[in-house]
Amino acid sequence: MTRRYIGRFAPSPTGPLHFGSLVSALASYLEAKQQRGKWLIRIEDVDGTRCKPIFAEQILTTLQSYQLVSDDKVEVQSQHHQSYQDHLEQLKQQGQLFPCNCTRQSLQVFQGRHPHICDSHTDAPHSWRLKSSELIYQYHDPIQGTLRFTNDLKHTCPILKRKDGYFSYQLAVVVDDHRQHITHLVRGADLIETTAQQLHLYSLFNWTPPELCHIPLIVNQRGDKISKQNHAKAIVDGDITTLLCALKYLGLQIQASSIQEALDQAIKSWDIKRLQGQSALPIQPQDWHL
Ligand code: GLU
Repeated sequence: MTRRYIGRFAPSPTGPLHFGSLVSALASYLEAKQQRGKWLIRIEDVDGTRCKPIFAEQILTTLQSYQLVSDDKVEVQSQHHQSYQDHLEQLKQQGQLFPCNCTRQSLQVFQGRHPHICDSHTDAPHSWRLKSSELIYQYHDPIQGTLRFTNDLKHTCPILKRKDGYFSYQLAVVVDDHRQHITHLVRGADLIETTAQQLHLYSLFNWTPPELCHIPLIVNQRGDKISKQNHAKAIVDGDITTLLCALKYLGLQIQASSIQEALDQAIKSWDIKRLQGQSALPIQPQDWHL
C-alpha cells in the first residue's frame, strides 16, 4: 500500500522569513500539492535561546500572505518536550548515549567535533551525546543524486540534549517527522550534512525514514547561503513580484496577476527534476533587493 504523501515546511523562528526560506517553503508546498498530498507547517523552536515567539508569528503571517497554509494544525516543537525526553530515555536504555561535560574550549583541538566517548559524570551539568557509529548510510535524492555518507557518523558524537536542558534539532526533527507521519522531506541543500545523523536515529528507533530531497540553496554574490545569520532581509508580505521571483529560482516562469493564480499555475507546471544536479543558485543582481 502506498502511503499518502505528507510533506512539511519546518522553519526555525530565529528571524522573519527571508527569500531563501520562501523558496524552500514553496518547493515543499508545490511538491506536496502536485502529489495531491498534505502540506504541514511545523515551528521548530526547540532551541529556546535562539527562537522567539514573535518570529514564529511573523513567519506564519508571511506564509499566509502567500496563501501557504498548513493543512493541519501548526505544530510547535516547544510543546513536545516530553516526547523528546521519552525518546531520549529509549536511546539511553539502548546504550546509545553517553553523558558529556566537555567544554567548547576543550573540543577546539577537534575543530568543535567530539570524536570519542569521554569520561564525564552525570553529577555535574552535562549534555547527552549519541555514540559514534561505523554504519554507512546512502539514499537517492531526486535532485542531488545518490548520496553516500561514509565518515559522518564515525568522527562525531552529536548532542541530543544540551547541558542547559534544550533538546537538539537532530532529535526533535526525527521524532516529529515520525509522529506526524511525514512521508517526504523537501528542504534546503544546507541540511544534507544533517542527514546521516537523522537516518541513523531512524534506524535506532526502527522507523522508516521519509524520502529525502534537497533543493539548491539560494546564495549571495560570495556564495554564502542567504540566511538569518548573514542578515538576510525579511520579505514583504503578500507581494506577487517576490512570489514570481521565488518561483523563477525553482525553474518556473509564471505570469499571473494574483498569488492564488500564480500558485495554481505553479502546481501544474512544477517539475522537481528541473533542479536536478544543482546544489546552489546564485541570486541574480536584479534580485539583490529581495
Ligand atoms: N528548522 C530547520 C531550519 O529552519 C529546517 C529543518 C528541516 O527542514 O529539516 O533550518
